[in-house]
Amino acid sequence: CGIVGYVGHSAGRVNAGHSALDVVLEGLRRLEYRGYDSAGVAVVSEGSIESRKKSGKLSNLLAELEAHPLPETFTGIGHTRWATHGGPTDQNAHPHLSDGGKLALIHNGIIENFAELKLELVAKGYAFESETDTEVAAVLLGDIFRNKLGGVASDGGLSKAMQLACQRLEGAFTLLAVHADQPDVVVAARRNSPLVVGLGDGENFLGSDVSGFIDYTRRAVELGQDQIVTITADTVEITDFYGAPAEGKEYHVDWDP
Ligand code: GLU
Repeated sequence: CGIVGYVGHSAGRVNAGHSALDVVLEGLRRLEYRGYDSAGVAVVSEGSIESRKKSGKLSNLLAELEAHPLPETFTGIGHTRWATHGGPTDQNAHPHLSDGGKLALIHNGIIENFAELKLELVAKGYAFESETDTEVAAVLLGDIFRNKLGGVASDGGLSKAMQLACQRLEGAFTLLAVHADQPDVVVAARRNSPLVVGLGDGENFLGSDVSGFIDYTRRAVELGQDQIVTITADTVEITDFYGAPAEGKEYHVDWDP
């Protein structure tokens, strides 16, 4: 149960960032100590999302990535799963996709009201591919983004959709989402579950704890309860679940992994 997110600058710019996949896999390796039964990653490039996920150890995911490589991108998310809803299968591993495969979501924790939400979404015509509580959050977020907000990611649509989704979710969750139409952004939320931002120079990071990015930066900001953070390579914006701006307090990580 670990989470990592990364946004850097695309190649060709001065200070071009790292490969998102490298950063995310390194972070997941550091978070292995937390225990897990499956792992998965998603990377974003203009117009599309690609993901790989596998039950078992990270080495299974690495073998999958070797057989089916992902493109080099500068935005990515990664997850290690400790199954609570649905067995530890490839299908139940995260990321879970929605909005026609354009949105990917990863989650640590438990969505307590997933059964009610799932009934509501099934009644709207959605089909589900996994047994997880997480996929319900992914489909809810995709539905809000597409049908309530008109599906425009570049106007901050994904952050707004995350606010509206979180207003409906109960339980404990750290959520990270990416959208193909906004390839330079990762949006994250937390309630009763940890989330830390890592501040880089022309790149920013997210982790369920600082181990997720300790190899890259020691400047961290811990998110408060019921907050949402939107990161790009150069910006970090924090709000509550209703869009009111919030301040994060920066601190220095002074231990060695
Ligand atoms: N409840 C989710 C699942 O079973 C997330 C578990 C976790 O924290 O890794 O997929």
